[in-house]
Amino acid sequence: MTNPQTPLLQSKLPAVGTTIFTVMSTLAVEKNAVNLGQGFPDFQCDPKLVDVVTDAMKQGLNQYPPMTGVPVLREAVAAKIAALYGREYNAASEITITAGATQAIITAILAVVHAGDEVIVLEPCYDSYVPNIELAGGFAVRVPLAPGTFRPDFDRISAAITPKTRAILINSPHNPSGTVWTRNEMLRLQEILAPTQVLLISDEVYEHMVFDGQQHQSAAMFPDLAARAFIVSSFGKTYHVTGWKVGYVAAPTSMTNEFRKVHQFNVFTVNTPVQYGIAAYMADPTPYQQLPAFYQRKRDLFRSGLARTRFKLLPGEGTYFQCVNISDVSGLSETEFCKWLTSEIGVAAIPLSAFYGNGFDQRVVRFCFAKKDETLNAALERLAKL
Ligand code: PMP
Ligand code: GLN
Repeated sequence: MTNPQTPLLQSKLPAVGTTIFTVMSTLAVEKNAVNLGQGFPDFQCDPKLVDVVTDAMKQGLNQYPPMTGVPVLREAVAAKIAALYGREYNAASEITITAGATQAIITAILAVVHAGDEVIVLEPCYDSYVPNIELAGGFAVRVPLAPGTFRPDFDRISAAITPKTRAILINSPHNPSGTVWTRNEMLRLQEILAPTQVLLISDEVYEHMVFDGQQHQSAAMFPDLAARAFIVSSFGKTYHVTGWKVGYVAAPTSMTNEFRKVHQFNVFTVNTPVQYGIAAYMADPTPYQQLPAFYQRKRDLFRSGLARTRFKLLPGEGTYFQCVNISDVSGLSETEFCKWLTSEIGVAAIPLSAFYGNGFDQRVVRFCFAKKDETLNAALERLAKL
């Protein structure tokens, strides 16, 4: 509908269009392509998880829960963090249940970033971070991860810290590169931040997808990082239910207090029966304990198929993403290549350039292997033609 009475808007996010995930998923449907673009499983979650959520609904647990999340779920999260990472968070004052990691991250940013503050992001980075910082009136300072390896470059991180730096956002295991920070890298970050007032937002949504015996290095394991950190995770990734949009934030009490002031006005509460269901389901640690092996097998299946193509494989230490270099396959830009691959070969992927502010094109695209074996095999069969 166009009507001259509609006032002209000045966009708050003039550079933002539809996200690449939506664009590629739409194209994949239109072209009937195998969708290895947007990151989500094409298989079902454990039926027991559906049962416990259904039970909660049938028991009538369908009204607003407490603003901070239902106590049993906050307690289950605190117990899990203590067991895995050795840090005690108070379930009442330091854990908040969120509508997925996306809401946790924007809420943390809105809670602490003032107009004119700088927030360091390490590029390539997840597409919501920079718009979130800008909505808070802050300025995103983009520090590249080392070209080629995607490892943190601590000289550049140190050099980016100024008196205006309010926070740094990190993400390990890393989307899109699949790298996993080592203990030494976390220690180095801790050392750099020690003399500063810089807060840490640690996006750990892929915490249970770490392969080859490596361990996830949660910020919770490092006392002086934990003391300044919002640690964010998501049940969507861990339990194969990305559409349920439930996650959490763990942070020291003073930080949690500020977080909740925003949380109560941007979401207030999160889906009640799903919270009760997940709390019951978490009593058994087996599902997340088995996740590394589950995804490592898929990673190996997918990588061994890709090794027979002309793509050059990048390392895959964690997450459910695999990056490949396309230089020997095509001269197209990453984005044009992904569109061509979807339309002509029938496999959707995501260009790495989508994770950079300046559209930096390094001839690398990302595939998601959180798919049934038959889906991965169908994609590999098509990719073998290249
Ligand atoms: N951070 C990263 C790095 C992600 O890949 C995702 C998943 N899209 C999110 C945050 C958002 O997670 P959620 O779906 O729980 O909002
Ligand atoms: N995290 C997923 C990805 O990186 C999905 C993102 C989204 O759809 N916004 O593909």
